[in-house]
Amino acid sequence: MNSIDKIELLGMNMEELENFAASLGQPRFRGRQLHRWIYVKDTSSFYEMSDIPREIRQQLDERARVSIPRVLKQRVASDGTRKFLMEMYDKKRVETVLIPQSANLSGRYTLCVSSQVGCPLRCAFCATGQGVFQRNLYTHEIVGQLLGSRRELKRRLKNPEEPLITNVVFMGMGEPLLNYNEVIRAIRILNDPRGIQLGQRHITISTCGEAAAIKRLAEENLQVTLAISLHAASDQLRNELVPINKKYPLQTLMAAVKTYTEKTGRRVTFEYILLDGVNISRKDAENLAKLVKPLLANVNLIPYNEVDGLNYRKPQPQDVTAFYNWLNAAGLNVSVREEHGVDIEAACGQLAVKPN
Ligand code: SAH
Repeated sequence: MNSIDKIELLGMNMEELENFAASLGQPRFRGRQLHRWIYVKDTSSFYEMSDIPREIRQQLDERARVSIPRVLKQRVASDGTRKFLMEMYDKKRVETVLIPQSANLSGRYTLCVSSQVGCPLRCAFCATGQGVFQRNLYTHEIVGQLLGSRRELKRRLKNPEEPLITNVVFMGMGEPLLNYNEVIRAIRILNDPRGIQLGQRHITISTCGEAAAIKRLAEENLQVTLAISLHAASDQLRNELVPINKKYPLQTLMAAVKTYTEKTGRRVTFEYILLDGVNISRKDAENLAKLVKPLLANVNLIPYNEVDGLNYRKPQPQDVTAFYNWLNAAGLNVSVREEHGVDIEAACGQLAVKPN
């Protein structure tokens, strides 16, 4: 049996692992043991699963696999941010970024995961959208980004039992809501208290505005945080910057967000990139305030990270402050995103992998 024909255990939830154990004629608790080895211990080799009898380990190795993605390369930024290049079973590659939550490097991390190889959406300013869209990631490849990064991190730490990765944001490559089923399955696995134990509120889905999927998400009974990449408060400008706006114009998008807020009782965040000379005038601030105010939302301003080959520019710090102040004065709950990992091209919108 070649490794492609083997059954992938990573990405299975507890019940599925128990069923898998039963299908081998084993007691269901073997499934619970596998769950712990995979999701608590980050183990991909059956031979290391020491509480499982040797002949069963051998049988598992013949029939199944746990494909934690291989870390091909990693770069560490001066602020401690790490960017991993991860390889999937078919040699496709994505980037995953590990961001320290404080300057104290032994502390906790937020992991920025990818949901697709490339991205089909072609936002005008984003590095990922310049490349070729290749495919959706599977659940195991999404969860595997966490296990692979954590395993790397543990190798470097003295006390590997710490919680380490406490937040996950779907802000890497790809549009998570265009890979809906796999992303939701991944979230439920990340959230399982018997495994990775990430609180739902510590998981953020960032979307460019897939309105139909936002409404669907409202019905999932999840407490995850939703972030909307708005970037423009008029249809004319947003059509240019975020082309999916032609399919779901602002009015449709805002209606979907309103449904989401009402159904879930959760405050959403609007992300707004600041592009010099494009969307940061006083008039832009007024339009933005008018649009967002009725929704009791947060606004997160992201000073643009420049991308090779694109003509958009980062604004001057005083222009960032002015824009912030206008929104603040209009009564919005607004913050400016801290920049991480710019010196290794790991910041928002800088992730790009050449097709192979
Ligand atoms: N497709 C999803 C998630 C990926 S991007 C989405 O659109 O939300 C995560 C955030 O980074 C988005 O708000 C995205 O618009 C923003 N971004 C993209 N390119 C950027 C850049 N060059 N500088 C700063 N932010 C960028």
